[in-house]
Amino acid sequence: MSELHQRPPGFLYNSGRKTRELLCERVPLAQLAKRFGTPLYVYSAGMVRERVKAFQQAFAAQDHAICYSVKANSNLSILKLLASLGCGFDVVSGGELQRVARVGRSATKTVVFSGVGKTVAEMEAALKAGILLFNLESASELDSIARTAGRLKKNARVAMRVNPDVPADTHPYISTGLHKHKFGVPIGQARELYEKIATAKYLQAAGVSVHIGSQIRDFSSFNAAMERVAELVRQLRQAGHDIRYVDAGGGMGINYRDGSDDFASLAAEYAAAVTGPLRGLGLQLLLEPGRAIVGPAGVLLTRVVYRKTNGDKKFVIVDAAMNDLIRPSLYQAQHQIVPVSSTSAGAETVDVVGPICESGDFFARDRQLPVTAEGDLLAILDAGAYGMVLASNYNTRPRPAEILVSGKSAKVIRKRETTTDLMRGER
Ligand SMILES: *Cc1c(COP(=O)(O)O)cnc(C)c1O
Repeated sequence: MSELHQRPPGFLYNSGRKTRELLCERVPLAQLAKRFGTPLYVYSAGMVRERVKAFQQAFAAQDHAICYSVKANSNLSILKLLASLGCGFDVVSGGELQRVARVGRSATKTVVFSGVGKTVAEMEAALKAGILLFNLESASELDSIARTAGRLKKNARVAMRVNPDVPADTHPYISTGLHKHKFGVPIGQARELYEKIATAKYLQAAGVSVHIGSQIRDFSSFNAAMERVAELVRQLRQAGHDIRYVDAGGGMGINYRDGSDDFASLAAEYAAAVTGPLRGLGLQLLLEPGRAIVGPAGVLLTRVVYRKTNGDKKFVIVDAAMNDLIRPSLYQAQHQIVPVSSTSAGAETVDVVGPICESGDFFARDRQLPVTAEGDLLAILDAGAYGMVLASNYNTRPRPAEILVSGKSAKVIRKRETTTDLMRGER
């Protein structure tokens, strides 16, 4: 198996003689499938640790804090692991804030709260928790937080999320930094909004924030956005606002095709693009990576249920489906799919599909894959981010269990759902 099909240090083949077995750290994935069933999400704690450290290292020259984007993978054990590595959190809902509160009381002090539609109830919860920063996305939201903070007599540090109007080369659903998108306020309107913040008794204009999208691999877009943000910071300071934070958002892309990328050097390139424009401003930089930290640290394990041939099409039908991992259907994502036990059997061109009743339920189309038999296990790689969090119960399919591996240990960090769970609350 070439490096293309491995995700070191989390997912590597051992070097057996005839067959090679895919491991998560030191645990054979076949063992996990047998113990916990399929479909099954498996994450490598060691890989998360390594990626966080590389990311921190890349930004070492700049005063910074990582506020991990909870929406990428919000399992409590993953959040605890990240908190233990010194990460804060970026949340986009009251529910995500409650997850962070479960991690530890002090964890909520490290939270930045983003999103275009924060409700009053969500703002109240965040004000009471004393979060680090509110990223505001409209004039109406600014009015709302000013009223809510006034009513509760709680101070709030706020930043306007500006829309820098820079294009990012990614899927249209996850591009957010153009004026036609719903996110942020036009950067040209930001100054008057900061004037408004200055008149609100309980609000402090503490930062400027930006987030241009997700799965962005051309880092020059980040650089262009930060140039505009740096210029705005200078103007705001001149106007008397005490801007101390710049929140650069998340969005650093990963290589879904090939796992041989050197993450440390990519992170260094990303850091250079982001921090270059901020040099000399004496700011604390907040970073909100999600995918780049957890994406390659997870796989979705699935078993081949049937094979079938319709005319000249070959289908491999697996027990995972679009409800478990929607990225191929929703974003045309191409996840690598590899056999858990690899022999030197030949290759064939197949569609890998799930059992759900729609044609959009596929993991790969016309893909060259090693020949698999019914009952074989496959691993869908890079499923650690936007996998389980986007899972649904369509077709009344209980969601998979989640396993966290560290060295030789494997822990269930979320039990497999049951159909009883699904019908609870219905009558
Ligand atoms: C989704 C999101 C992120 C994380 O994006 P990744 O591409 O996973 O790094 C960060 N910040 C905000 C505001 C987001 O909406």
